[in-house]
Amino acid sequence: MGRYIGPVCRLCRREGMKLFLKGERCFTEKCAIERRSYPPGQHGHRRSRKSSNYGPQLREKQKVKRIYGILERQFRNYFKRAERQRGVTGENLLSIIERRLDNVVYRLGFAFSRRQARQLVAHGHIEVDGKKVTIPSYLVKPGQKVSVRQKSRDLEIIKQAIEGSRGRGVPEWLSVNIENFEGEIVRIPRKDDINLPIQEQLIVEFYSR
Ligand code: SF4
Repeated sequence: MGRYIGPVCRLCRREGMKLFLKGERCFTEKCAIERRSYPPGQHGHRRSRKSSNYGPQLREKQKVKRIYGILERQFRNYFKRAERQRGVTGENLLSIIERRLDNVVYRLGFAFSRRQARQLVAHGHIEVDGKKVTIPSYLVKPGQKVSVRQKSRDLEIIKQAIEGSRGRGVPEWLSVNIENFEGEIVRIPRKDDINLPIQEQLIVEFYSR
């Protein structure tokens, strides 16, 4: 599956909020949102256009895709899967994307950002139940264990990420044993486990048009 390879701070400026796509830099005054908090591009300074229902729905969908680093086709597939499941479609959608292996690696504190987590997975530094998995979109299940491979544990980038993410906390649906470079999926994540300002109903409305 593809990934966005353009400038990421531009995405935050487009959404008008910090999406924390760069790791450490996001917490410094170098953050582009701190310095230029208007939309990117030639007309970014202009006043915003008249709002419609479509605008906020589109922006909400784009925002979530960008936070998790997912492109349209895959995101739409997640939506279809969420629709087929029992329960509230929007909440199902968030629960599915939250279970992506790259997100889990980030949530466990083994990476500064989801982008970095994705790279760690793709480069073979992560195992699920003791087996190397290189697919960032792999969906974890309750009971599974996610760990940093033995031979990758001395990597400076991982050590720094663990140190830097100590204060971030781990959501309740995961448990972590940082000394063993290992975490476990305790249960399926719910909407209230996801500490992001997302109005998932707008995304459902967008795809139901
Ligand atoms: Fe977004 Fe981080 Fe760039 Fe700030 S530094 S604009 S939060 S990616």
